[in-house]
Amino acid sequence: MSRDGTGLPKALYLHVPFCKKRCSYCDFESRALSEADVDPSRYARALVEKLATLSDAGFLRDCETAYIGGGTPTVLGEALPRLVESVAGLAGPLAELTFEANPESATPRLLETARDAGATRVSIGVQSLDDAVLARIGRLHTAAEALEALRVADGLGYRVSADLMAGLPGARAGALARHAKTLVEHGASHVSLYPLEVHGQTPLGRAVSRGSVEVPGEDEVAEELEGAASALEAGGLHRYEIASFAREGQESLHNRHYWDGAPYLGLGQGASSMLSRGAYARLREVVPTLPEAPREVARLRFTCTSTPHRIARTPLRSLSGFSVEGLTEASALAEDLMLAVRCTTGISRELDARARRAFGVAYQGACARLVELGLLEEAGNGAWAYRPSRSAWLLSNELFGAFWALAPDEPVQLA
Ligand code: SF4
Repeated sequence: MSRDGTGLPKALYLHVPFCKKRCSYCDFESRALSEADVDPSRYARALVEKLATLSDAGFLRDCETAYIGGGTPTVLGEALPRLVESVAGLAGPLAELTFEANPESATPRLLETARDAGATRVSIGVQSLDDAVLARIGRLHTAAEALEALRVADGLGYRVSADLMAGLPGARAGALARHAKTLVEHGASHVSLYPLEVHGQTPLGRAVSRGSVEVPGEDEVAEELEGAASALEAGGLHRYEIASFAREGQESLHNRHYWDGAPYLGLGQGASSMLSRGAYARLREVVPTLPEAPREVARLRFTCTSTPHRIARTPLRSLSGFSVEGLTEASALAEDLMLAVRCTTGISRELDARARRAFGVAYQGACARLVELGLLEEAGNGAWAYRPSRSAWLLSNELFGAFWALAPDEPVQLA
């Protein structure tokens, strides 16, 4: 967690838990519009009311970035630019304001009005440029519509990011690398590259268990990811985080806050927050329904579990439905190490010094073992002490596990 200043959130996240229709692989916090328990624009207005309460309390004054994610924020239609305008007015001043968009609902008019309202960056859910694969996973757009959305957003002056997935059913060998190249040619200056995760309770998960759908094996997925990473690098984007590639200067400032352990605040169903004990105590003055933090807790991570309907109808002061975890100083530091090795910048000298003081030989031993395994590289004379090697990207769980194991305490479940 950032140790400077007030401890107030540097990053603000707003969650829009609605989609036109659910994709077959999705286990995110979202529901189809036909099953929404509240009018989405009423929900968006409720987020603004809550933001205004937080802003009046001075809680948003250190925010540098905001991100409207989902779900599919573009299903809000004209309510999206209104939401963007309110966020830009109530938080900040912001260096970056991103929203997520799906090609079928990111119309040129919506992109233009959202930009005029203050959005600077758009993250477009492309996933694949193979129409048969897109249809198979339940996406509502074609490859041509995705490329058109990229082109329009780029032309409007947005910083444009695109999501791409490896391991999709029916994907052809070598296709992902070609898709990555095409995205860059159509204006993406940032690409997030993820492997598909098959979750048992989703329609895709059930079809895979029944044997009616086959997904590529681990080795094929690794090969796809490597091929796409090389195509992105050849197109001038560098990897700066395990799943994120950007042209120089186009990295996501918002996500960078998460990986740097900076405090952040999430609003909306399923949105998570992470705050120091001091900032959490200040937030409780505005949201007294949050549980009190015990003395041993240094950092709190909490998620709003209330339904969209309740969020829309309940003022922030009385909002209930949170899951809250408390982390001790040691677990918070282990978490910072884990987040740091997600990024190519790795473990800074400052973080290294803190870890040596707190964990002593256990930390040094873990680093030495990871260097021996070829997952970490030791520093020369730069600003970093250790950074992940190229081969670490495919074995990241091993890397994260080694740092997480340094803190023996389980998080304290407060709610
Ligand atoms: S659009 Fe995104 S959030 Fe919505 S169902 Fe598809 S994957 Fe899930």
